[in-house]
Amino acid sequence: MNVLPIDYQRLLKGYYEAERLPRDFSPERIVPDFSFNVLNPMGLLYKPVVDDNFLENGGKKPIWPNDREFAVCLTHDVDLVSLYSLKEFTRARWKGVSGNKSALKRFKNILGMGMDRLRYKGIKDPLHCYEKWLNVEADMNAHSTFFFWPGAQSITKPHPTDCSYELDDPVVFDNQRCCVAEMIKEIDRQGWDVGLHPSWYSFNDTGELKRQKEQLENVLGHEIVSIRQHYLHYDIRITPRVQSEAGFKYDSTLGLNDNIGFRFGTSYPWNLYDLEAENELPIIEIPLIVQDNALLHSNKGMRLDEDTAFQYVIQMADSVERVGGVLTLLWHPNTIVRQDWWNLYLRALNYLKQKQVWFASVKEIGEWWTQNK
Ligand SMILES: [Zn+2]
Repeated sequence: MNVLPIDYQRLLKGYYEAERLPRDFSPERIVPDFSFNVLNPMGLLYKPVVDDNFLENGGKKPIWPNDREFAVCLTHDVDLVSLYSLKEFTRARWKGVSGNKSALKRFKNILGMGMDRLRYKGIKDPLHCYEKWLNVEADMNAHSTFFFWPGAQSITKPHPTDCSYELDDPVVFDNQRCCVAEMIKEIDRQGWDVGLHPSWYSFNDTGELKRQKEQLENVLGHEIVSIRQHYLHYDIRITPRVQSEAGFKYDSTLGLNDNIGFRFGTSYPWNLYDLEAENELPIIEIPLIVQDNALLHSNKGMRLDEDTAFQYVIQMADSVERVGGVLTLLWHPNTIVRQDWWNLYLRALNYLKQKQVWFASVKEIGEWWTQNK
């Protein structure tokens, strides 16, 4: 196949992505993924072609703290905080079945599944161990970003796929009984970055996004600067401006759900662009390169086993190392119950630890990039 000429500036500004969106881009439609990407038919999704081009034309590799060769940005989207919570489960089921089933069917569905959950009453919840993520990262001298959902109170337009926990739901963190808000505060206090994981319908609504941001900021008592849209639900024509207007400095949504790779051909952070106003925005993108679901999910994405997935992680890491960029990893904390998913995270960290790498959160990378680009 002939490789079409790609204008890398247009690529980073989002023109190709905007041109190739499915005709039906209604908010309810499934998020368009790698098959719509301009680089995919050319076989370029796994190559940081923009970075290669930059270096071939005399560009200098980015500088990282302590002369590290490249950066690894560790991130977690907190979609669930409990596995056995009847409340969280019932809220999720209610949203999931409402709208397309009769009231009787909905009731039966929830009752049946709720009875199932009652069996777990009094048993330690397998997700109440999120301190484990912090512990393994502390061993690497690393802080990650935890993107939290702000709870339903600040949401005016709910969607069935939105998260179902509330800030006052009970959890156990580091063997202490507390609520979600207290866990968030503790993660923040220990030096990790807390970002926003907003609702499905926040992608094109500045007011909605601002309210959700403020909700989490009220918990923390300080500003939030990092964001990743839930489900990577994002519209390149609108979301950059909306996030920027809502006051975010760093986004890390621009990766893939069903594949890994360089959605915009780059591992370098860059300033997002407002396609409507045709100007650069102050918000910086730190692109997502590898997520757990794309590698290991059994019925979507690449559907790999642990060993094969690890080979792909190595390939991405080596590509990013070559250009001196940022390898952003996403592991969902609730996958801690899957031994192979957890193992793969540990194997990835151990592999990267052998290299000259700077482990950092979205906020740390964003701040460094702003000061040193
Ligand atoms: Zn999510």
